[in-house]
Amino acid sequence: MKLAKRVEALTPSTTLAITAKANALKAEGHNVIALGAGEPDFNTPIHIIEAAYESMKQGHTKYTASGGLLPLKKAIANKLQKDQGLTYDPTEIIVSTGAKHSLYTLFQAILDEGDEVIIPIPYWVSYPEQVKLADGTPVYLEGKEENQFKITVEDLKKVITKQTKALILNSPSNPTGSLYSVEELRAIGEVCLQHDILIVSDEIYEKLVYGGVKHTSIAELSPELKKQTIIINGLSKSHSMTGWRIGFAAGDAKIIKAMTNLDSHSTSNPTTTSQHGALAAYNGTQEPVEEMRQAFEERMNKVYDRLITIPGITCVKPNGAFYLFPNATEAVKMTGYSTVDEWVEAILEEEKVALVPGSGFGAPDNVRLSYATSLDMLMEALDRIESFINRNT
Ligand code: PLP
Repeated sequence: MKLAKRVEALTPSTTLAITAKANALKAEGHNVIALGAGEPDFNTPIHIIEAAYESMKQGHTKYTASGGLLPLKKAIANKLQKDQGLTYDPTEIIVSTGAKHSLYTLFQAILDEGDEVIIPIPYWVSYPEQVKLADGTPVYLEGKEENQFKITVEDLKKVITKQTKALILNSPSNPTGSLYSVEELRAIGEVCLQHDILIVSDEIYEKLVYGGVKHTSIAELSPELKKQTIIINGLSKSHSMTGWRIGFAAGDAKIIKAMTNLDSHSTSNPTTTSQHGALAAYNGTQEPVEEMRQAFEERMNKVYDRLITIPGITCVKPNGAFYLFPNATEAVKMTGYSTVDEWVEAILEEEKVALVPGSGFGAPDNVRLSYATSLDMLMEALDRIESFINRNT
C-alpha cells in the first residue's frame, strides 16, 4: 500500500540510527557507553510514584476531561505564578501527553499551508517535522557558535515575511544548553510584537540551569509578551518523568480550546495515573528537583573541564539542560575523516562510545554529548575519545 505523502516526507532521526547501532553492539556483548540519552538517569521521586499508585487504588483509573484534570491545571497555574510570576486561568492551560505532544497539537491548531515558523539552528529534531506535519514551512535561522548558538534580532528581522506565524524559542536549549538573557529576550520579543509573531517558548529545561543564572520566560517580560507567547513545559526533565508523558501548554484561551478539541479526537486525555503523579509532583516538595539539578551541574563542570583538554575539540560552556555540544571539526580533520557523521560512526565502532552527530540538529560541525549518565562512565567515554584521536592522528 502507498503511504501518505506526509509520512514519506518525514526525515528519519539520526539519533535513532546511532542508537540502533549502539544497541546492536551491546547485544554482541561490547561495553558500549551511550551518551545519546535525552532523559535524566534518575528515577522519578518516590512520593510521585506513591501518589500515582494511591490514586489507582482509590479508583482514579477512568477517563478524565480532555485537556486534563482541573486540579492539575490549577497546580500548573500555581507553578507558573510561583516560578514565573504569571497568572493563568485554567482555561488558558492544556495538559498533554508530554511537551512534545503539546507542541504537535499547537502546530496543528495554528498553522495553515504556507504559514512560516522560524526555527533557530541548532534545533531540537522534532520542531521541523512537527511544523511540516501541520502543513507549515520551517524557516531556519542560524544561531552562531560565537554567539553561544543564539539568534540575534538583526538576523531575525531578515527572515521575517508576511507569512511568518511563529518563532520557536528553546531556552535552555537542546542540543546546545544555551540560555537567552533577559536583554536578548526583550529584544526578540519586541520584534515579535511588531510583526505579530506568536512566540512558542519551549521551557522544558527550565529547572536545569547552572552557574547561578536564572531562567526567565519571555512571557514574564510584559503583559503584551505574555499574550504573544505560548509556554510549553512539562515534568519529563525537571522531575525525571519522561515515561509518564505529561506536558502542558499555557497561553491564549482560544488556542488552548482549539488544542483541547483536537486532543479530544486523538488521545482523549493524558493518562489518568500520570496526571495524578503530576499533581503530586507540582504540589509536593521540589527538593528532589534541586538535588538533580545540582548533580547535573557538578557533572557538567567536570565533563566540560575534561572535554576541552582533548585535542581538536572546542566547546561553548552551556548554562543549562544536560548536553554539551562541542565543535569537532578540527578533531575530524586531524584524524583523517571528512565529516563529523563518519567520525562519530568510527568512534562508535572502534571505541564503543555513542555520540549524536550535530547534523540531525542542523549543525554538522558539532556533536551532542549527554551527561545524563554517571560521572565514571562519562570520564571513561572521554578517555576513549581522546585515545581514538591520539591513535588516528
Ligand atoms: N522540547 C525539547 C527541547 C526536548 O528536548 C524534549 C525532549 O527531549 C521535549 C520538548 C519533549 O519532552 P516531553 O518528554 O515532555 O515530550
